[in-house]
Amino acid sequence: MPPILFAANWKMHHGPVQAEAFAREFRELTFPSPDRELWFFPPAVSIGVLADAFRSRPDIRIGCQDVHWEAAGAFTGALSIPMVEEAGASAALVGHSERRHVFGETDADTGKKVTSLLKAGFRAMLCVGETLVEREAGKTEAVVLRQLNAGLGAVAPGDWPYVLVAYEPVWAIGTGRNATPDDAAAVHGVIREWIIAHGGPADVRILYGGSVKAGNVLALVSREGIDGVLVGGASLTPDGWAEIVGIGETTGLS
Ligand code: PEP
Repeated sequence: MPPILFAANWKMHHGPVQAEAFAREFRELTFPSPDRELWFFPPAVSIGVLADAFRSRPDIRIGCQDVHWEAAGAFTGALSIPMVEEAGASAALVGHSERRHVFGETDADTGKKVTSLLKAGFRAMLCVGETLVEREAGKTEAVVLRQLNAGLGAVAPGDWPYVLVAYEPVWAIGTGRNATPDDAAAVHGVIREWIIAHGGPADVRILYGGSVKAGNVLALVSREGIDGVLVGGASLTPDGWAEIVGIGETTGLS
């Protein structure tokens, strides 16, 4: 069994001082395990602090919440892949729903970002998911397929090992309302079929995200086809996050 992937999206929380304190406590609470892989997506200003703090933890990877597709230039406020790599990142989220719905990121933008990340040897985690209106209109599959076509339509055969997908229904993010394991597994199946139909391997990791917490994580990651979780709110405290990532240890999941 490949390791379960637990990814923390800190959104706009935890600057360098808080990130350092988090890492210090988290290191005491957890230990590396071959059964799980931990990724942190902190605000960009905290990437370096986490990269340093977790240098001795081969199970932990640091990523950026967003990048620009160009390597440099007149893009005030943006971050390039070479810059975040220098800071210690080796992965990035692309198309998180807040980037799409708050900042107006387009499908076309996501494709350009994925292409640049893969060219740089980064892991790219494409986030896809429907809004409540789209779900209630029966458009979940159509929306997810559109986002996959735009984000991953140009992935070269050799780059698939660097691609991940996070299915994050927008109505479940930060709302306390999560998709059931059945709902999530059904959409994960659609995503996997699309990947295979587009030349990708069946083992591309597909994560679920949306109000994941200690009480529901086990039911989600125990489902075939749900390879991990992307977690926002519940990843913000060291003990809360340690409880979630340690879930298999105490239950015998692994
Ligand atoms: C997220 O930010 O990707 C997310 C899933 O948030 P939350 O866990 O708070 O719903």
